[in-house]
Amino acid sequence: MSTRPESETLLVVAECPVAPGFGGVVALTSVATGALVFFAPCCGVAWTTLPRADRIDEINSIDDIAPGGVSVLNRAELAALAPGLAVVREESLADWILDIPGLVGRGA
Ligand SMILES: [Zn+2]
Repeated sequence: MSTRPESETLLVVAECPVAPGFGGVVALTSVATGALVFFAPCCGVAWTTLPRADRIDEINSIDDIAPGGVSVLNRAELAALAPGLAVVREESLADWILDIPGLVGRGA
């Protein structure tokens, strides 16, 4: 197995503004740019900035924001990219992996 154990967790940074209570917004990174990508696997909606719970300004797909794909990041990487951004909870990547299109870098 060549998977990275420290990256088997999704970092949830907000509740999904599209369907609150059903899922969370997880932090990912764009493979092409290294920029943060916020994604709600429950709804398939992605954002370049943290979405507000009471407003849905833009509806994007991961393909729109990160055409080169996304990868999971760990807490240290998130802290480096977005100091002060709180992690609400962690969820198992295995629970959502089929709902994250374009996920790459899984030890491939
Ligand atoms: Zn959702």
